[in-house]
Amino acid sequence: MINDYVNDPYFVKEKYPDISVCEKCGVVFHEGIFEWLNPPPANAQKMICPACRRIADKYEGGVVYLKGSFLQKHKEEILNLIKNVEENEKFLRPLERIIEIREEKDEIVITTTYEHIARRIGEAIHKAYKGSLKLNYPEDTKYIRVYWERE
Ligand SMILES: [Zn+2]
Repeated sequence: MINDYVNDPYFVKEKYPDISVCEKCGVVFHEGIFEWLNPPPANAQKMICPACRRIADKYEGGVVYLKGSFLQKHKEEILNLIKNVEENEKFLRPLERIIEIREEKDEIVITTTYEHIARRIGEAIHKAYKGSLKLNYPEDTKYIRVYWERE
């Protein structure tokens, strides 16, 4: 978990005090990790977590492109599946979030805070609905482009 964030500019540029709680989403930073603690410790200082900062700046760590005629016919189901994946990922890895879901002409574009959740969304759709899935990691960056398509 710690290793996931050490190279993240959004983690490095802030000094997160131990213990601190995000004013936006309530995630707690404690002993080097971000975790959901409910209620947050009373002595926690206030901060804005890297995920909320990325969402505010629209600084994405991954993007998922969905297209094809199957998508148009099953849009609701697929969007529900995406929401479920986000719930699960966010529970396990609190900084993995969806930034935005944009419905464009003939595709849906989902941007995410980090690359892991983008891959998970692609894999979950591929597992449920087959079609073709491509994962593209630009060299030397912590970023992913995920393409899914089914006619
Ligand atoms: Zn937050």
